Amino acid sequence: MNHEIKIKITKEKRKTMVLKLVDAENAIVKAPLSVSDKRIGEFVKSKEQWLAKMSKRMIDYKSFSQTFDLLKNVYVDGLVAMKAEEVAIGFSKLPEDAQKKLLRKHYLTLFSSLENLARELSEKTGLPVKEIKPLDSVRVWGCYSNKKQMKLNWKLILVPKELKEYIIYHELSHSVYMNHKPQFWALVEKWCPNYKELKKKLNQYDFVLKTTF
Ligand SMILES: [Zn+2]
Repeated sequence: MNHEIKIKITKEKRKTMVLKLVDAENAIVKAPLSVSDKRIGEFVKSKEQWLAKMSKRMIDYKSFSQTFDLLKNVYVDGLVAMKAEEVAIGFSKLPEDAQKKLLRKHYLTLFSSLENLARELSEKTGLPVKEIKPLDSVRVWGCYSNKKQMKLNWKLILVPKELKEYIIYHELSHSVYMNHKPQFWALVEKWCPNYKELKKKLNQYDFVLKTTF
């Protein structure tokens, strides 16, 4: 391990041992009352590689998200498109929620590009969509209703194009399967062969999704 992970051990009334990573430097083991310290030690050792991997992932995520400043810049396709202060006169003097409101409004003016991309991919795949609407959510990037309405989180404007496409293919595939069963993923894969990799990449943009504008 290239950095120290502190492990806190708690014994409680439970049946199995679990190990959870709290953050990049801290983990917790919950063990049944009857389990010996030796056994706990072995358990932690067997999870060492997993811990190191997950911890590294957390650190990478943090450093990646820190390369973005969502109040300083307008991002399109994962890149700085312009300075946030260009959005409105006196922008930098406004309180944060007023700035966020203006940014949201600006991003929504760009929503038609996302809509166009969705229409284009619908035509290419033959998977139908009637209406495309912007979605305000800190939980999901998109959704698709049985009335063939697709809602796309407008924050998708900020992420790279390949990730926008993955979400659109995903939502379009819901026109055939309204679930996430294997047939559904097979259809996603047909149009988006590297979807697994893209899903991981999109996870890096979780901080965008979770930002409230
Ligand atoms: Zn889905």
